[in-house]
Amino acid sequence: MAPAGRASGAAAHRAETADGAGVQAPVKAAAPLRLTVLGATGSVGTSTLDLVGRHPGRFEVVALTANGNAERLAELAIAHRAKLAVIGEDTHYGTLRERLAGTGIRAAAGAAAIEAAAREPADCIMAAIVGAAGLRPTFAAAEQGTRVALANKECLVSAGEIFLTHLGRSGAELMPVDSEHSGAFQAIGRTAARSIEKIVLTASGGPFRTWDKERLARVSPEEALRHPNWSMGAKITIDSATLMNKGLELIEAFHLFPVAAHQLEAVVHPQSVVHCLVMLEDGSVMAQLSHPDMRTPIALALAWPERLATPVPRLDLVTLQSLTFEAPDHSRFPALKMAGETLKRGGTAPAVLNAANEVAVTAFLERRIGFLDIASTVAACLEKAEGKGLIGYADTLDGVIAADGEARRLTRTLLPG
Ligand code: NAD
Ligand code: MG
Repeated sequence: MAPAGRASGAAAHRAETADGAGVQAPVKAAAPLRLTVLGATGSVGTSTLDLVGRHPGRFEVVALTANGNAERLAELAIAHRAKLAVIGEDTHYGTLRERLAGTGIRAAAGAAAIEAAAREPADCIMAAIVGAAGLRPTFAAAEQGTRVALANKECLVSAGEIFLTHLGRSGAELMPVDSEHSGAFQAIGRTAARSIEKIVLTASGGPFRTWDKERLARVSPEEALRHPNWSMGAKITIDSATLMNKGLELIEAFHLFPVAAHQLEAVVHPQSVVHCLVMLEDGSVMAQLSHPDMRTPIALALAWPERLATPVPRLDLVTLQSLTFEAPDHSRFPALKMAGETLKRGGTAPAVLNAANEVAVTAFLERRIGFLDIASTVAACLEKAEGKGLIGYADTLDGVIAADGEARRLTRTLLPG
């Protein structure tokens, strides 16, 4: 069969091509799947653990990590009988140790300890830390040569080729968690790469799909955090409202699937039921549909080539009645095109875009800039970075992290105050 992954060692389809014999017959796992969740207290992390809790005996939780919420981390570690719990911020170590006293669960703190947790032997590591902070732990997870269930899209956006090479070296298998990419993975199936004409990712359009620029300029963080269809962490919810999320996802898709940048498109689909459309040379369009709930793509990433039952509401097309699609409006939502341009620019441009966006989103949530300023700040950072020769080529993770740091510093100089 033709692998759908892009690079030599890539990626999404290694699960079914490992033996070169196509999709393997489902086999009931004899032993529980040893699972680590990086970013366990987040939206994807808790959805993952929700599934784990629904399938007793199927998973064995190795390590759980979080950044600052030690109470919640301890609760999850106890509930799922984890062997190790790691908190990123050292200041919360005392609380974590206190909550885990007498449980037999090991506690640790700090960024290096999170990386070490990612290296604890596991069959699958759910990489669900938000932002570029997830890069080093996700790279560490990939060293095991087992399965990386990738929610942290920033890893592919900022360090795509380097990450794929890294996976190739260890033989690790990459399963996409992002719903659109999970949809594309399924829709492509065993299709030969040369037969794929286009991959279309859908975007809900966010809460301001129909708002004019004047209203957009006055959007508050509370309004932007109210996503119409999906329940997600704060950063990705804001990215969904600006359409930056879809831009990051186009870059993610470029690295996951064997297509050129011009074969990737985004279409607005307000119902968020169709997650991806794969258009083929014979005129067929393969789509993946499901109720907008991350537990469906998470289940696939954990269980493939098996399936895992979820309580996600089943689709009733008669009740739904209509599924609508429209072109994105680039003048009101410029972030989407901007991200696509960084993909064409190449080198560290996507890493600079991502870092600038993380800083701008935080500034918006802190009410330091307006909603429309998010995209204009990122655009200004890209322009200045280009002018200063900061956009170049990086062939190591350290190089990417350095470019990310430069971009953050530059973006902060562009913010008011
Ligand atoms: P979230 O904000 O809800 O959770 C983030 C997790 O990362 C938390 O556990 C937090 O403690 C941890 N974390 C944050 N900063 C950290 C740091 N510096 N060091 C270590 N840990 C840190 O985020 P989320 O919505 O679950 O998203 C996680 C990732 O999954 C993101 O990359 C996002 O783009 C991607 N994703 C999320 C969804 C979704 O529905 N939420 C869908 C698709 C993709
Ligand atoms: Mg998505």
